[in-house]
Amino acid sequence: MSNAPATAKQITLKTVSEIEIMRRANRIVGGALNMLREKADAGVSTWELDLWAEEFARQHGATPAFKGYHGFPGSLCVSLNEQVVHGIPSKKVVLAEGDIVSIDFGVCYKGFYGDAAVTLAIGEIDAAKANLLKVTHDSLYKGIEQARVGNRINDISAAVQAHVEKYGYSVVKQFVGHGIGAALHEGPEVPNYSVGNKRTPRIMAGMVLAIEPMVNLGTFEVKVLKDGWTVITKDKSPSAHFEHSIAISEEGPIILSDNIY
Ligand code: MG
Repeated sequence: MSNAPATAKQITLKTVSEIEIMRRANRIVGGALNMLREKADAGVSTWELDLWAEEFARQHGATPAFKGYHGFPGSLCVSLNEQVVHGIPSKKVVLAEGDIVSIDFGVCYKGFYGDAAVTLAIGEIDAAKANLLKVTHDSLYKGIEQARVGNRINDISAAVQAHVEKYGYSVVKQFVGHGIGAALHEGPEVPNYSVGNKRTPRIMAGMVLAIEPMVNLGTFEVKVLKDGWTVITKDKSPSAHFEHSIAISEEGPIILSDNIY
């Protein structure tokens, strides 16, 4: 789940044993996303996906993190096509051939959070959507490459944005990635766009970051629907979302949700 920038949240550094717990939390998230990839098909409702994800978390000793978070009603954020993030699972929303569906899942495990997202293709999708998925996915990895001790958060942001804009797509600015730990949303904010010369925090060993590019085929502008949650693109163009939680070590970034395929 992405963060709407508000007041600055605290940055906490994690110990090696805390990072091990967070790896387990994030692998539960990854396992759930892999299970949903197998099950997400034309005719399946987003309510069913939500149910399966919650069951998966509970079977693995974790609790769904988004359910009840600021009143969010689901365990999953499920966002179809022009929906960017924070779509609410519903029996009335049924996947159809040609859709793209962004699935964002978070759990709490032994007091620590995991958070990751993928965008899936339902059956055959058109070339424009397929390329949007690939570019968004790759932009996440471009950002992760920069998540190194000595760099600043803006190095992650600038790398994501540069990759996305090379293909003529736009990054969402209204929602950002975030630190994660004993809280779902901690500092620092991790925007998907460069803030230029403004000083952003230095990246330090022990930080755990949820990096999550949200990329639109058309305009970067988004709006929130009347349900108070669902974010859509203003021009109704498709949008994709990929997210990993990563820990920073002296040697480089470690993807905690590394079991996602
Ligand atoms: Mg997140």
